[in-house]
Amino acid sequence: MKMNNKVMLITGGANGIGLEAAKLFAAEGAKVMIADLDENAMQAAVEAIGADKSAYIRTDVTSAEDNQAMVAACLEKFGRIDAFLANAGVEGKIGSIMDSSVENFEFVMNVNVRGVWLGLHNVLPVMKKQGGGAVVITSSGAGVQGSPALAPYNTSKHAVIGLMRCAAQEVAKDNIRINTVNPGAIDTRMIHSIGEGYFPDSADDFTAAMDAETPMGRLGQPAEVAKLMLFLSSDDASYCTGGVYMVDGGQSC
Ligand code: NAD
Repeated sequence: MKMNNKVMLITGGANGIGLEAAKLFAAEGAKVMIADLDENAMQAAVEAIGADKSAYIRTDVTSAEDNQAMVAACLEKFGRIDAFLANAGVEGKIGSIMDSSVENFEFVMNVNVRGVWLGLHNVLPVMKKQGGGAVVITSSGAGVQGSPALAPYNTSKHAVIGLMRCAAQEVAKDNIRINTVNPGAIDTRMIHSIGEGYFPDSADDFTAAMDAETPMGRLGQPAEVAKLMLFLSSDDASYCTGGVYMVDGGQSC
């Protein structure tokens, strides 16, 4: 039990990668607070995990007030925050810089960058006061390379690596570790939405393109990302901070 007596707060924990992480951390002994926009999915997650081990709060990560409320709810329910997973994210619309809107750029940057900054701003003082903690930010393979027609998303995922590096240096002496996980193409709603954006008429073309691009020749599963998140959040990773951890079937190598 790698998370015994620990409390995990996760944004975007209602679906996809975040949901797998919430389930895995709970199975490893953690109490889990899920913060997401999707109330139905959060309800289902708490039913699946168990109401004795988990709770949820509706949170829009772009809102300063919601971030404060999310941290307050976690402290009220479970008393501390040992692991914070800043995982909520959106892909935005597929389109070149020339052909897409400033609204799309701002939407993606607000959720994926401002949302992570606000999470850190509210969680780090709690971890400092309690003597330590671990933060995992979900960046992406898109955080270390470019993609045509996905500039806002790739830019946002590069940005959170910079944010992570600054934060890791600021709080290392407070016994707080901060890393990014960088998934490649993972089998969730998001990757299929991106696929439909690139190949509106043929899901098969998308799957073939992903397989060709990835040395391991397949999409990753959310649980394969959750296991890396667990390692980085646990005491097993006691000397890991400021790192960029790929989980991408070799896509970026
Ligand atoms: P997903 O769409 O299944 O899950 C994203 C979750 O974030 C959803 O539950 C959604 O409700 C929540 N969310 C969106 N906007 C929010 C907001 N403003 N406030 C609170 N919650 C919000 O997608 P996923 O693939 O599980 O994505 C999880 C993370 O992994 C994201 O940061 C994504 O960018 C990243 N990622 C995904 C892939 C992939 O291939 N699926 C690859 C690399 C990185």
